[in-house]
Amino acid sequence: MYIDRIDLYHVATPLIYPWRTAYGEDAAVHSVLCRMTSGSVSGWGESSPLAAPCYSPEWGGGLFAVANEWLAPAIVGQNISSGEELQARLAHFKGNPFAKAALDCAWWGLKANVTGKPLDALLGEAAGCQPRDEVPVGADFGVMDSIDDLLVAVGKAVADRFPRIKLKFRPGWDLPMLCVVRGQYPKQTFHIDCNSGYRLADTPLFQQIDELNLAMIEQPLAHDDLIDHAELQRQIRTPVCLDESITGLRKTEQAIALQSCRYVNIKPGRVGGLTVALKIHNACQAAGIPCWVGGMLESAVGAAHCVALAMLPNFTYPADIFPSARFYRQDLADAPLELIRTRDSLPGLRPFNRLPQPQPDRLARLTVQHAVIEG
Ligand code: MG
Repeated sequence: MYIDRIDLYHVATPLIYPWRTAYGEDAAVHSVLCRMTSGSVSGWGESSPLAAPCYSPEWGGGLFAVANEWLAPAIVGQNISSGEELQARLAHFKGNPFAKAALDCAWWGLKANVTGKPLDALLGEAAGCQPRDEVPVGADFGVMDSIDDLLVAVGKAVADRFPRIKLKFRPGWDLPMLCVVRGQYPKQTFHIDCNSGYRLADTPLFQQIDELNLAMIEQPLAHDDLIDHAELQRQIRTPVCLDESITGLRKTEQAIALQSCRYVNIKPGRVGGLTVALKIHNACQAAGIPCWVGGMLESAVGAAHCVALAMLPNFTYPADIFPSARFYRQDLADAPLELIRTRDSLPGLRPFNRLPQPQPDRLARLTVQHAVIEG
């Protein structure tokens, strides 16, 4: 596909209520939408590193600058026939996986629109496996004003039959909170997400958590660490899941070799796009490490890509992809993401036949910066 033009939109979408985690508090989600055009056809991608460099070293304004000044000019005016070819053209730019993901995901969106094939089918072909047609999703709760508020929310998720519940976990909102929740719901599947809020010296805390029978502990230690996670995993029974530390295929291969984790969370943005996400999925599958797909509070434009990815067979733990109404009064996209009931009657998602696109008026209203790169 010859790439004639790339449009970048840095958008800030207000949340219904702030999202509180170990890395901070967000009142609006900052993401960059990328429209890639070939002839008369366009495709969209979205990458959402949030407003400040606190989840990872990247942030919305920085992503926009890198994509505008360096990455998009390396792609526009080129014939790009595969995700690998796109990644190869970006490979000499170090790091910046979220910025590369904006372009990579837009390329896949363009490919789906040019070929008329559903994105999940294209990803299955590229990964060499048969995609499923639905995926269960979990419930996910950030830090709340009180444990009573959390118990109400968890009770509703249990009643709604969410197959697992994830609790954000940070100093001041940690073991006492978890003991209360586990005491109320002894049989429910729970895991915690520490968002790199702890250090190896906190191993005794995680050994206490072993008694609470969690499915996993997500990213307990530093955002770029593999070695301390391997040491922690040797000292606790609960599986460690890496999220922030997995920024590409090489990091995944190193985590497998070091035995740093027993689960991997894959977010297309964090790893550099769908092309890389497929390779990580396959590497983990070969190593016997189950995966699950996470999102970054993208609009339905980006979430639809996460849903398509989640159809691959090694994503065996329920996904972290939220319906639009959970966080937004109105989704940026022309079609919101909505939960369905799976065949097992669990809350879940099915892939879109037609990928959602930004609704033009909403996109204009939420755009902070816009750039056009032409060949
Ligand atoms: Mg996480």
